[in-house]
Amino acid sequence: MLEEFKYLGREKAREVVITNTNKIADMIERISPVRPDKCPPIIENSDKDLRQICYDKAHSMYGPDLPEPVSSRLERELNSIIGNGFAVMYIIAQKLVWKSNEDGYLVGSRGSVGSSFVATMSGITEVNPLAAHYYCDKCFYSDFDSELVKSYAGKSGCDMPDKLCPNCGEMLKKDGHEIPFETFLGFYGDKEPDIDLNFSGEYQNHAHDYTEVIFGAGQTFRAGTIGTLAEKTAFGYVYKYFEEKEIHKRRAEMERISQGCVGVRRTTGQHPGGIVVLPIGEEIYSFTPVQRPANDMTTQTITTHFDYHSIDHNLLKLDILGHDDPTMIRMLEDLTGIDAKTIRFDDEKVLSLFKDLSALKISKEDLDGCDLGSLGVPEFGTDFVMQMLRDTKPKTFSDLVRISGLSHGTDVWLNNAQYFIAQGNCELSTAICTRDDIMTFLIHAGVEKGLAFKIMESVRKGKGLQENMEVAMREAGVPEWYMESCKRIKYMFPKAHAAAYVMMAFRIAYFKVYYPLAYYAAFFSIRASSFNYELMCLGRERLEYHIADYKKRSNELTAKEQDTLKDMKLVLEMYARGYDFMPIDIYSAKARYFQIIDGKLMPSLSTIDGLGDKAADGVVEAAKNGKFLSREDFKQRCKVSSTVADLMAELGLLGDLPISNQMSLMDFL
Ligand SMILES: [Zn+2]
Repeated sequence: MLEEFKYLGREKAREVVITNTNKIADMIERISPVRPDKCPPIIENSDKDLRQICYDKAHSMYGPDLPEPVSSRLERELNSIIGNGFAVMYIIAQKLVWKSNEDGYLVGSRGSVGSSFVATMSGITEVNPLAAHYYCDKCFYSDFDSELVKSYAGKSGCDMPDKLCPNCGEMLKKDGHEIPFETFLGFYGDKEPDIDLNFSGEYQNHAHDYTEVIFGAGQTFRAGTIGTLAEKTAFGYVYKYFEEKEIHKRRAEMERISQGCVGVRRTTGQHPGGIVVLPIGEEIYSFTPVQRPANDMTTQTITTHFDYHSIDHNLLKLDILGHDDPTMIRMLEDLTGIDAKTIRFDDEKVLSLFKDLSALKISKEDLDGCDLGSLGVPEFGTDFVMQMLRDTKPKTFSDLVRISGLSHGTDVWLNNAQYFIAQGNCELSTAICTRDDIMTFLIHAGVEKGLAFKIMESVRKGKGLQENMEVAMREAGVPEWYMESCKRIKYMFPKAHAAAYVMMAFRIAYFKVYYPLAYYAAFFSIRASSFNYELMCLGRERLEYHIADYKKRSNELTAKEQDTLKDMKLVLEMYARGYDFMPIDIYSAKARYFQIIDGKLMPSLSTIDGLGDKAADGVVEAAKNGKFLSREDFKQRCKVSSTVADLMAELGLLGDLPISNQMSLMDFL
């Protein structure tokens, strides 16, 4: 450039080319499309409140003088949470969960938040991460270190035998799942917490609205996502373009061009439960523009324009997800009057569902060859997990937690634990099932705590073991198969998540054993995705006929038919247990929910093939206005199609309604 300007003379050229350009560069301030700073919302007194809430709860359970394991864990966690400025996140989660509980819906915790005892004491999770222990909530006796308790190291408190309080004779409470705090906030307790919660799907919108109450109207936004162009679609665009222009291109060239389009923004959407929080006093536009998802101007939803990943270092994102388990539990509580929180996690009959059919009093011949009672128990009813149950024969709650860990990992069961158990290297109780197992096991084996944490992190991310890790493990006498198992793992579930899932599943399983009609009503209303009145509700024989038909065509079933087959198995189980459906009564049936009437189940209107949720609502509304005069009248008032009305008539659900009003008038004359 100096060469270009040399006509100005040496000095002037330097000034123009070097001095002035630098001067301009220095005058420009650095800007970034996203702000660099962190702006968490502020809730006054979070630190103090969190401490207070936790101690109040701890004292209510363990008495005025807290046992050492309780006070030391609580202090250690509170210091690191408050010291790192995370108290506000706990308080937000606490407010959301308490509100949901108050409104009658349990909340399930996801991810590793159940590893935090502060999360337990503040009511965010039901999982108690202390080691197995007994406590008396009457006289505050506790037992954390007797020989009996110690023999349950690594297991759950509810696995231990019942015991009476040696001081006052009251039945002792059993709790604890032994989960290290490190899995949640890292070894130094400074990892940003990610609190994900499973609200009832029915309640999710209320929880979203409640964030506006906590943070103020207009301070919360749905987390926006960006959908990008996938390879196949990109190729389709390119192909179509040349076809329309009648230009001939070789496939290789079209592939080359489409590579240039892959990853380009195609549309925008929203995270299923992500809420981004703007602190009071800040302007959202200093972080991101806002918009409506997919530019749909008719929706009320406002999302961040930037993908939330690009701004989640600035603004807090809450995961308020919807899940079926809390909805199931609410319906079961409503139907039975049982408080699901009082269900014990050591009920023998419930545990037996995971190894045979004895609690259901049926045989495998009754159930199309299925030999377990866990069909329709969340996460335990799939073919994959049921095979796992047969291979591992769980006996206790903590065994189920281990199986849940195995089934949610990648390369943790197949080609790994399954093999080592079959080889006799380990049993279910000693196999690696969750991330936390690795850290706990290694510390017990004598590996230094910091290194044990690093090994856990490396293995759970699928990075295997480094040289120095193997050396330390060998020195501590860790067996070779264990190291081989570590190396094969690609992804692992946290134990806290497994424990939270199993608690929900166990409660639902309890109702399956003791309140069968309520259970089937709830399952068919909420969980069954392809329930079909015509195929399933006309008696066991008809059902068996259809099952045989579906199985004959098993290779050509559509995805929906495969779902139907799954639902049919549960209906078969219900028939085998001696329960029956009653025909739908168009005047008293509900749109979406099954009802228990006179010891039988009345299916919902939406189980009729072709009758969608909206049409089912229409029938309920129309039925409120009195008797239908004819099929024609039924069709018009309910706004259902002729096909559906004809099917209902065929199924005998329209009774003896005449075809049209006119005919009824004729009859009358
Ligand atoms: Zn006592």
